Amino acid sequence: MEEQLNLLIQLQDIDRAIRSRQEEKKKLPVMLTELEGKSEANKAELDRVREALEAAQKGKRDRDRDLEEGGQKVEKLKSRTPDIKTNKEYTALLKEIETVEQENKAIEDDILKLMEKIDAAAGEIRNAESRSAEEAAAIATERKQLEENMAKLDAELATIERERNELAARVDAPLLARYQKRYGSLAGKVVVEARGESCTGCFMSIPPQLFVNVKKNTEIITCPHCSRILYYKETLTPRT
Ligand SMILES: [Zn+2]
Repeated sequence: MEEQLNLLIQLQDIDRAIRSRQEEKKKLPVMLTELEGKSEANKAELDRVREALEAAQKGKRDRDRDLEEGGQKVEKLKSRTPDIKTNKEYTALLKEIETVEQENKAIEDDILKLMEKIDAAAGEIRNAESRSAEEAAAIATERKQLEENMAKLDAELATIERERNELAARVDAPLLARYQKRYGSLAGKVVVEARGESCTGCFMSIPPQLFVNVKKNTEIITCPHCSRILYYKETLTPRT
């Protein structure tokens, strides 16, 4: 039975190794999704600054047209001067010209502000583009790393699972079935060390007579409290 105990202990180690890699594997798609999110946010930020530039450029085009129309309006008003008959009419015309000129001045101020906005937006785009390029490179590196990890885990799992199958084939069928049935519910602790007359699975004490037998490692003995399989490390022949 000692060999069987040894095999079970090894099997349990292997099952833990498999489980930890499976857990790790589950994290990878989540990390990949996070990376996608970063990439999207990056793109959205670039779109935002580009849209701001386009809006400012369109605003300026509109105001340029307004100014042109304003200039034509002034010319048209001025061209009426020769037809003026009275002083009153003349004053009124001058007043009208002045109003349009003031409007044109306001449009020019607007245009200046829009040009500043365009310069700022163009600068922002350059920054956002270089930031985005850096981030894209970092994301690509990280993605490559994740993919390598995934491949490494898969390769390790394939090797370990092969080992597991070989080992499991050497365990007596009923014992193996008993072990496998309980592995999940006992959180990977089916075979545990008995130490200082206690079970290291549930930490309850083992009756002295039972402990004497556990120390021999010659039969499958279970803890009377948690029914885990017990072994005594000091007298167990090292695994081969
Ligand atoms: Zn126990």
